[in-house]
Amino acid sequence: MELFAGNHRVSTIYAGILREGIQLTDDFSSAQEPNKVQRRQARVRGVVQGVGFRPFVYRLAQEEGLAGFIGNDTDGVTIEVEGGPDRIDAFLGRLQSEAPTLARIDSVVTCGIPAIQEKKFRIVASEAHGEVATGIPADAATCADCLRELLDPKDRRYRYPFLNCTNCGPRFTITRRIPYDRPQTSMAKFRMCAACQAEYDDPANRRFHAQPNACGECGPHLWLVDAAGAPVEAADPVADTIERLLAGQIVAIKGIGGFHLACDATNEAAVMRLRERKHRYGKPLAIMVRDLEAAQAIAELTPEDEAALMTFARPIVLVRGRDSGVVAPSVAPGVPWLGIFLPYAPLQHLLFADARVHALVMTSANLSEEPIAIDNDEALARLGNIADAFLMHDREILQRCDDSVVAVVDGARQLLRRARGFVPLSVPLAPNLPEFDAPPLLAVGGHLKNVFALARGSNVYQSQHLGDLENLTGLNFFRESLDHLMRTFEISPLAVAHDMHPGYLSTSLARDWAAERDIPLIAVQHHHAHIAGCMAEHALQGPVIGLALDGTGYGTDGRIWGGEVLITRLDGPESGSFNRFAHLEYVPMPGGEKAIHEPWRMALGALYDAGFDIESEQVSAMAGVSPREAHLVRQMIDRGINTPLTSSLGRLFDAVAAVVLGRGVVDYEAQAAIELEGTAIGQSERLDREYYVLQLFDSNPVTIKTESLWHELVEDLRHGVSKPIIAARFHLGVAKGFIWAATNAREHTGINQVALSGGCMHNRRLARLLRAGLEEEGFKVYQHRDVSPGDGGLSFGQAVVAAAILNRR
Ligand SMILES: [Zn+2]
Ligand SMILES: [Zn+2]
Ligand SMILES: [Zn+2]
Repeated sequence: MELFAGNHRVSTIYAGILREGIQLTDDFSSAQEPNKVQRRQARVRGVVQGVGFRPFVYRLAQEEGLAGFIGNDTDGVTIEVEGGPDRIDAFLGRLQSEAPTLARIDSVVTCGIPAIQEKKFRIVASEAHGEVATGIPADAATCADCLRELLDPKDRRYRYPFLNCTNCGPRFTITRRIPYDRPQTSMAKFRMCAACQAEYDDPANRRFHAQPNACGECGPHLWLVDAAGAPVEAADPVADTIERLLAGQIVAIKGIGGFHLACDATNEAAVMRLRERKHRYGKPLAIMVRDLEAAQAIAELTPEDEAALMTFARPIVLVRGRDSGVVAPSVAPGVPWLGIFLPYAPLQHLLFADARVHALVMTSANLSEEPIAIDNDEALARLGNIADAFLMHDREILQRCDDSVVAVVDGARQLLRRARGFVPLSVPLAPNLPEFDAPPLLAVGGHLKNVFALARGSNVYQSQHLGDLENLTGLNFFRESLDHLMRTFEISPLAVAHDMHPGYLSTSLARDWAAERDIPLIAVQHHHAHIAGCMAEHALQGPVIGLALDGTGYGTDGRIWGGEVLITRLDGPESGSFNRFAHLEYVPMPGGEKAIHEPWRMALGALYDAGFDIESEQVSAMAGVSPREAHLVRQMIDRGINTPLTSSLGRLFDAVAAVVLGRGVVDYEAQAAIELEGTAIGQSERLDREYYVLQLFDSNPVTIKTESLWHELVEDLRHGVSKPIIAARFHLGVAKGFIWAATNAREHTGINQVALSGGCMHNRRLARLLRAGLEEEGFKVYQHRDVSPGDGGLSFGQAVVAAAILNRR
């Protein structure tokens, strides 16, 4: 992989150094005389379009007294500066140290070129440059300057809900196609007034080329309608909305990436009503609060949590709730965590401005896992039975985009749902992964929480979170989004990667897609993709010992995997392959898919496998069922009726939660495991505490047996050991078992690097225990950063594996 800078090539190794701020200059310029006027060209790559980079550079050049120009090019900006060499050096230094907040500089490559006696510095238009500017930035939260204007009665944009500037505002969600210019956005229909136009044209202004620039005179406006769509007479629709929320109503509010359903998060009756109308029971609801201080009042925030809340993406951050008595119990029943986020659109700031509203449930406006509603009429049609009123506006949302979700796991920010604020930025890859030079390809992702990925060269672009691919709405959303991102990045895939599961909708979609275009299909095993993704984030070529601790994924033997130790590599003749070193023992999953929603089935399957008489009064009661029901399940297992085998760790968590907590049926995915983790809070995480033993059985692959774990756990239950202690012993036992398996793998292979991935890595306790235990054993441990360890990260890993295989060929 090489970067191109004019005629000059520089390897990505140097780009890695540049990222840390060191300039690379070729011999030509440094050989020039010290005091003579020089001219230098700089190619800047990264997120530098639509983020106020050109006016920033313009100002910088003015300040340093340099002539030349800046223009957007296909994958960044090109700058030429002319003047004294020390001034040029100062300019290039400040270029990185003072870059605008939304910019991300991945590399700067400079070279000397002959001076042409230019006198002025210019911003050249993208078109004049003869190339297409491809970048569409991500949506960014209202900046401090705009917020000050919003709340300043003397400002011409006082209380204007659509103000923005080059440092903030919607981008991706309002853009129809490239280049990112006003006519290609949903702001095209609003003609700027003279005052806005003057700002837009002035290179020294914060709103220079701010494509969504607007004011109350010329821009979008708000209105309120009732559930039937009839306009509500309101002098101030925001004030009216606040009254309704305080009165316990549910209001659908049009945001940046779609509608939210909002209600007062301190009003239990309102929250319950929202749950009933939305048919969403149990699953925690995200709440928005005014500011960091308000968040601190209801949650125990670590400095990392606070930093995550304040990023420009303004994601939902999963944090430890506080017993404040403020938040209604139905917001997050049964779990000690809260999903909190801060206002990121001016309209949202206005809702909190007069401090009467303390916390709002703000949940994506959809039914269950359907895509979020974005269009005014669509919202009315789909949400008329849920919302009492709709706060709408006439700035169209062109790309659906949910709120992103992050959690700080083991001290590091982890992206759980990649959406608003992150899309469509490429996943930041470790820059010195020389093998990672992907041909243009599409990876379609998995089944639930789908995200697809497009890759080319060293870039992998993940789509926004698309939800579950279970119905036509989801499928259409997939197609819309794929079309859009293919156009945006001008990527025409030459291969399609997909999950091995033959029954996934994403698999048939990949098949059709590849057949239509006559391009190759690459099937990637689910957990292999999880591990490869983690490796690519850290530029690991392998081989590594991959611990894929997950819910369910289709295995190469047709069974359901999910507790896997995979030796994985991304280089050499076996690049893109893996070897299954060990796995959690197979246990019956009576009822198949049904067992995911009904953990009592997993409990019976696991207990039966561990040698318990599940038809006895005592054991069946542990799973919360009658001996008769247990008898039927036993028959299913014995005869192999609808009872696949699984090595999933997620299912083991479910089974244990069913027995320990009585969580026989779940309302949402991973609920049982989340509650089990919550139960262990407060218990010591020291590695020398008691734990339930997982045993390694020396087979090929090695089997990690759960029998003694179950017997010890049941023994503790019978002796009345407390649930928190049992939950803690279970977590430690699982961690110890997999650490032991990794140690065993090292003895056989000599590999000392461990990559952790899979949905179970959302479990913070497990993540901490694994890292601590593995490091104690001398392993180097790697976890995900910008890619979800869950199925949202699957397409990224698929792309990595596919690229490794194609490059091998
Ligand atoms: Zn701003
Ligand atoms: Zn205006
Ligand atoms: Zn998975």
